[in-house]
Amino acid sequence: MPRQPHPFTFMCTRCSWTKTTIPLSDALVIGRDWFTQCPKCGSESLKHVPASQREILKARLEQFFRLHS
Ligand SMILES: [Zn+2]
Repeated sequence: MPRQPHPFTFMCTRCSWTKTTIPLSDALVIGRDWFTQCPKCGSESLKHVPASQREILKARLEQFFRLHS
C-alpha cells in the first residue's frame, strides 16, 4: 500500500485565502493538491502547515458535497 500523503492547509500571507487539501496519492496535482501561488491574489508567499483534525473533516465534507451535487 502506498503511504498516503499528509493533508495540508495552505495559507496566503497576503490575503485571507486558506485551503485544506487531502491528496489521494503521492502524485500531487498543482492547483488541486498543492499550491505554489494564491489563486485569489496571486501572491507566491504561501505557508503550508499539516492540517488539523477539524480542517481535515471540513475538507472531507467539501469533497463529499462536490462529488454528490
Ligand atoms: Zn492571497
